[in-house]
Amino acid sequence: MLEVEGAAFSYGNGDEAAHALENVSLSVVRGTVHALIGASGCGKSTLLRLAAGLLRPMRGTVQVDGAEVNPEQLRIGFLPQNYGLLPWKTARENILLGVRVKGAGGQSWAEAFEEIVSDLGLSDLLDRYPRELSGGQQQRVGLARVFLLSPDFLLMDEPFSALDAITRESMQEVFLSLWEKHAVTTLLVTHYVEEALALAGRISVMGGRPSTVVETFENPFAGNLACSASRPFFEMGRLLRAKIAGASA
Ligand code: ADP
Repeated sequence: MLEVEGAAFSYGNGDEAAHALENVSLSVVRGTVHALIGASGCGKSTLLRLAAGLLRPMRGTVQVDGAEVNPEQLRIGFLPQNYGLLPWKTARENILLGVRVKGAGGQSWAEAFEEIVSDLGLSDLLDRYPRELSGGQQQRVGLARVFLLSPDFLLMDEPFSALDAITRESMQEVFLSLWEKHAVTTLLVTHYVEEALALAGRISVMGGRPSTVVETFENPFAGNLACSASRPFFEMGRLLRAKIAGASA
């Protein structure tokens, strides 16, 4: 679905330019979760912004279904690190913001709204403002907003990293159950190896100078949180950590 080929990107020009990405190639298959992992500063967020069409590659191509990515034609759900909630709007208004901005017609989303809000356990929290919600609750509001949009494509930048470990694990379960219902093609940036292993069927390791996609792995553990204490899961985590360390050395 998403095909990145030979993409390069620098911030700034000339001697001042910061070469963020060079010769990046990546295929995200429709209906899967694909994770990008790598050390801080290796260009994960930059690649996500290229996929969102917020940045344009200086060389190479970024295409969705064979056409250059165009945020005006695609429904792209973007869940940033801080969940992107507007502090002066209630949870209900924040959830509806996506469909309002994208102009979904009439009441077509009303039923979906009820279902998603109930699945996420948000029914009693809809009149609260973000400051009156815990981190995990804010995260659920952010998830409700992007899933209600029923996006062609979901981009998530470190969505669980601000949460404590216990809340993070329970939010991963919440995400998986929503995702299984809606099967949205997802590109997920994380620096947690275990998170990539729990959620993503394919995992791309980024690194190098300038940075690129070093290797992509098939992950048999995705969606099966019960595996996370198993020896093979642990071994694969070790392998990925070694790849990340090698790529950023
Ligand atoms: P990651 O998400 O893996 O932490 P980023 O994509 O944020 O990495 O950054 C990749 C590189 O590009 C880093 O060296 C970073 O300092 C640089 N960079 C990111 N955003 C900007 C910007 N707006 N201006 C200049 N350099 C930037």
